[in-house]
Amino acid sequence: MFYIGCHLSASNGYLAMAKTAESIGANTFQFFTRNPRGGQAKAIDPRDTEAFGKYAKELAFGPILAHAPYTLNPCSADPRVREFANMVFTDDLQRLEYTPGAMYNFHPGSHVGQGVDVGIGLIVDQLNQVLRPEQTTTVLLETMAGKGSEIGGNFRELREIIDGVELQDKMGVCLDTCHVNDAGYDVVGDLDGVLTEFDNVVGLHRLKAIHINDSMNPLGAHKDRHQKIGQGYIGTEAFARIINHPALRDLPFYLETPNEIQGYADEIAMLKALRS
Ligand code: FE
Ligand code: FE
Ligand code: ZN
Repeated sequence: MFYIGCHLSASNGYLAMAKTAESIGANTFQFFTRNPRGGQAKAIDPRDTEAFGKYAKELAFGPILAHAPYTLNPCSADPRVREFANMVFTDDLQRLEYTPGAMYNFHPGSHVGQGVDVGIGLIVDQLNQVLRPEQTTTVLLETMAGKGSEIGGNFRELREIIDGVELQDKMGVCLDTCHVNDAGYDVVGDLDGVLTEFDNVVGLHRLKAIHINDSMNPLGAHKDRHQKIGQGYIGTEAFARIINHPALRDLPFYLETPNEIQGYADEIAMLKALRS
């Protein structure tokens, strides 16, 4: 099964997102759990999540991916920012239990000058506080572009975070193609080599999702600016190899390209045509 979707607005609820996804040829989707700049989450409507569950099952949807707000920084130097991250994380995980078996993606964080080791320690502390043995959600660390003091710009840092977590079976990784390109992993020229390195350092069994984005910047630029598929430095041919690679093809793919809904529909159709 080719699980392909895009980022959608959550403002009209889960069933509305699923119907929008279906209307553009998608069979999964990503959404923000709340305003990406932070703030209050909309209350869950159990009738909506129940209707969504039935609909998604009927249409054999892939797992949905919730994205934490960008302001969530578990390794901030400011204890109030870390406290906010803890509150958001806990609340998001509770609300995601209304849609069992979902995934929750977050940016590991920025150590803001405290150093990578201190940052990783703070991220591990937070995960050990918020993860619960009974949760059905898998929490994903996103591979980052390595801009500023971002943690997660290399696979080793992701592995170190996972190593510190007690409930490791609740953890996975989401690979963002724009971010890894910008971080210096050559998914265009040496996809096999990048995946071998990922397997050696993190383990391919921990790879649970792909953010499929082209990049406005060349390999190793450490920028993080997404581009439409085929219009950036990664290019259509590399995406054909990515979506068909034996190690990746059964994972869900989520577009986060700069598009309105019709642009996403066009990209989904294009990717389906590239699927072999
Ligand atoms: Fe992200
Ligand atoms: Fe991403
Ligand atoms: Zn990004």
